[in-house]
Amino acid sequence: MSSLAVLQSRGELPPADVDTDDCLTSYTHIYSPDLLKDQVAFITGGGSGIGLRIAEIFMRHGCDTVIASRNLDKLKEAAKKLSAVSEHRCLPLCIDVRQPESIAAAVDETLKEFGRVDILINNAAGNFLCPATSLSFNAFKTVMEIDTVGTFNTSKVVYEKWFKDHGGNIVNISATLGYKGQALQVHAGSAKAANDAMTRHLAVEWGPSGVRVNAVAPGPISGTEGFSRLGGLRADAAGAFQSIPLQRAGNKTEMAHCTLFLASPASSYVTGAILVADGGAWLTSANDFSMLLGYWSSEKKRDK
Ligand code: NAP
Repeated sequence: MSSLAVLQSRGELPPADVDTDDCLTSYTHIYSPDLLKDQVAFITGGGSGIGLRIAEIFMRHGCDTVIASRNLDKLKEAAKKLSAVSEHRCLPLCIDVRQPESIAAAVDETLKEFGRVDILINNAAGNFLCPATSLSFNAFKTVMEIDTVGTFNTSKVVYEKWFKDHGGNIVNISATLGYKGQALQVHAGSAKAANDAMTRHLAVEWGPSGVRVNAVAPGPISGTEGFSRLGGLRADAAGAFQSIPLQRAGNKTEMAHCTLFLASPASSYVTGAILVADGGAWLTSANDFSMLLGYWSSEKKRDK
């Protein structure tokens, strides 16, 4: 019996999801619907992919949200969809996580609008496949600036403006790429490894102020930009996910549930932790540099 069939027979199927940047058409609560009652979450990159689903699941648990990234039109459209599926408010704000002033203005606006901020989700990131020899100095630097410097900037601004005096919860969205040195991912793998260290450093320094700092490290997650850009659809069609212990890609709702656990009182004694949510993928997935280089070259030719 396949692992999915076993789960099916036990009634433990993955939660529903949709592959597009739309809200779920149906949702069954696992946690109490009041888990985040009256809280406010600030979610970077909350207008698409995993970040959008985190915003939706949080709102379905009683939370107001701010979704913040560069493309305000995309954010406004997402906020409209998010507000329509719950009774809670979603405020779209334009920021670039590389620019502390833009974050400071957005956090001021959040405090003006909602009067508090309880949760910060550092989800904004850039990613693509590229071998180190073809990666420009600027491309490496840009990924480090968005993923790592951006996570520090946003955490520091939210800490200074609110968490320092009121406590709070930070969840960084990480990745497993650095664990084995995933081929074609030196930029994102290095950035996320630095973020995992930052998660522990800030957990140590800010714990006494009542701030918990944790991370979720997703594996391949369907219905995301990352998944399509990193060859997930092709890998799925070629049966590559059979080598993952749980034999499938994860979905955005599953990542949102892990993030919800870490952002909520359900994990009240957890800090400095990295929750790997990848079906066991990093333990068994291929990391064959020449094979992946071949895939990358053929994709590049197709692009031309
Ligand atoms: P996504 O939809 O592309 O999300 C990335 C978000 O970051 C976008 O909404 C983008 O919005 C925002 N962003 C990019 N640069 C920014 C900047 N300079 N300032 C502010 N916001 C910025 O990708 P995703 O796949 O859902 O990824 C979400 C997170 O999960 C990332 O941290 C990623 O590394 C992690 N992850 C994903 C997977 C996967 O399979 N998808 C696997 C492992 C880890 P704007 O363009 O509007 O700025």
